[in-house]
Amino acid sequence: MKIICIGRNYSEHAKELKNEVPTEPVFFLKPDTALMKENAPFYYPSFSNDIHYEVELVIKICKNGKTILPQFAHKYYDQITVGIDFTARDLQQQCKEKGLPWEKAKSFDNSAPIGTFVNIAELKNKDDIAFSLDINNQLVQQGLRSQMLFNIDQIIAYISGFITLKTGDLIFTGTPAGVGPVKIGDRLVAKLEEKVLLDFEIK
Ligand code: ZN
Repeated sequence: MKIICIGRNYSEHAKELKNEVPTEPVFFLKPDTALMKENAPFYYPSFSNDIHYEVELVIKICKNGKTILPQFAHKYYDQITVGIDFTARDLQQQCKEKGLPWEKAKSFDNSAPIGTFVNIAELKNKDDIAFSLDINNQLVQQGLRSQMLFNIDQIIAYISGFITLKTGDLIFTGTPAGVGPVKIGDRLVAKLEEKVLLDFEIK
């Protein structure tokens, strides 16, 4: 099982980090040891002083595929949830300045908490799924599926041109604007269509 994450997929977020809006999807991977489930607490790691939250829609691949055409991509995923792409922003900044890969800033253990999956077919607004993140009962991020620069079908087509997708793989589809730091004691609650799917604490 692998976790593939899309970067800079919402123009307002690209702007807030002073990144260019990309002309093709930007992606990176997290290992399976990044995954965190069942609302387990996140322990603030000692190697960073600036861990940021990024709430994202996460889809689960339900069929193996390679070089998938965009018009068939919808057959390769049927479940969705919300997840947090935890990022050590201080380490990421150092990597970016040196032109180095981001892995240590993005792919560390427990950097990918995910919520409970729901069937996309059961959602009312399949094409415009709303999602959000509250920290200590304050809304900090919200997004709509339709605001993505590259939609899910385009992402699947693009990634599968380089990497075979397998059943059970997860794709984090990018974060909207509003990212920021977490601190010990924070409670993060992520919702999809007003339904709480992820609820955990920073320890
Ligand atoms: Zn992200």
